Amino acid sequence: MTITPPSFPDLPCGQRCLEGCPIQSKMIRLQAGLVSAADDPAAPMVRAFFDGYAQLIENSEEARRIYPYTIVLPALFDLVLSAKYAARAIANAGWTYCDGSDYGDRPAKYFPFLKACPRCTVKRNHRPAAKSNKPPSDTIGTIACDVTSLILAEYLARVAPGLHIARSTQRAGDADAVIYGDGLVALAEIKSSPLVIYPLEIQLPERLTESREGEAAPMADHASVTDDLTGPLSLYLPQWDARIPLGPRDPAWPYATLTRFVADPGIVEIVLAAWRDLYEIYAGSRQGRGVTERRRWLMCGCGSPVDDSKNAPGLDRTDDIKKGTYQVLKYGTSYKDQCLKRVIRAVLVSNVFPLRLYDTYLADMEEVIWSKIRHIISSDNDVMSFTKAHIFNLYDSLLCLTDSRYRDEQLL
Ligand SMILES: [Zn+2]
Ligand SMILES: [Zn+2]
Repeated sequence: MTITPPSFPDLPCGQRCLEGCPIQSKMIRLQAGLVSAADDPAAPMVRAFFDGYAQLIENSEEARRIYPYTIVLPALFDLVLSAKYAARAIANAGWTYCDGSDYGDRPAKYFPFLKACPRCTVKRNHRPAAKSNKPPSDTIGTIACDVTSLILAEYLARVAPGLHIARSTQRAGDADAVIYGDGLVALAEIKSSPLVIYPLEIQLPERLTESREGEAAPMADHASVTDDLTGPLSLYLPQWDARIPLGPRDPAWPYATLTRFVADPGIVEIVLAAWRDLYEIYAGSRQGRGVTERRRWLMCGCGSPVDDSKNAPGLDRTDDIKKGTYQVLKYGTSYKDQCLKRVIRAVLVSNVFPLRLYDTYLADMEEVIWSKIRHIISSDNDVMSFTKAHIFNLYDSLLCLTDSRYRDEQLL
């Protein structure tokens, strides 16, 4: 039997904690189940995108201003997640035929992840029903967690090389990931969910036909169709009528082609601009113009019948704010309060900072600090005292790709 060396030997609690740390064995178990967040087939694509972005802003002060990391990271999240959904869900069945001639487009097939034809949604302001190929919610949760960790890992490697992120492989474990560095282990609960999932597209050389009363006739618009998946595939960005070619399918599909493509700063700019458009609509800065914004129907959680409103992006989902808040409190009571070195932090992580639910669900909670009865040092009529070591932040950080709040200066 081979003895595997301890993984992540530089984690400050666990193998390296002080003798007698009450959570040491629990942390060693957690440590043993960690894998590097960068250990992911999409990692080269994320690195290429950051390289493309670096080139983009090197040449343009304007691009640096309008595409800060709070746009870059969440836009990249949706792109990587779309690639992962495509890799997982793509099948011969599940395609929707879109004729397109009403608006002078070529006929195409779409493999959508919401329940409407993506092209007609923006080009005709009409939302013909389509079969959604969205994975079940627990699969979405796992993919979203992997993508968030991967993007944070690659980002930290560039801006804060002293911090690392590792993903937990223990399904029943407490933490989804740990962000660690010298004297710091942040247990992270990840509650990410996409703003937009780009559908797959196959452009067709001519209109499809079907037999009607014994005669070949143009196929009914938005009929369900199949494909043999041997031709070129693309991700389609309906709001910009842009395409990201994914190349022919092979075992590395679609990451190898995407890696080459997103290294181009011009492509990075299109991805960022297209994502920013939708995010601004989501954030409400483009409402009130007296027109119904048809592009809002491209976004997750846009509402019936296209996508259930409970699928809103990031932390804008009540269930996830509630579960995530329990989890950071649990990290506090069962980890932060116990580690002898006092190195543990509790972080709630997501791709999108809650814009719609913030006022109702988070504004009053952000500043919460807490302790336990057993930590009371003295108590008289007016004053109850605790040492600072026994006072904890509820959230040491609400760390979102679009925006963050920090209560712990080590995480800044
Ligand atoms: Zn259509
Ligand atoms: Zn410890």
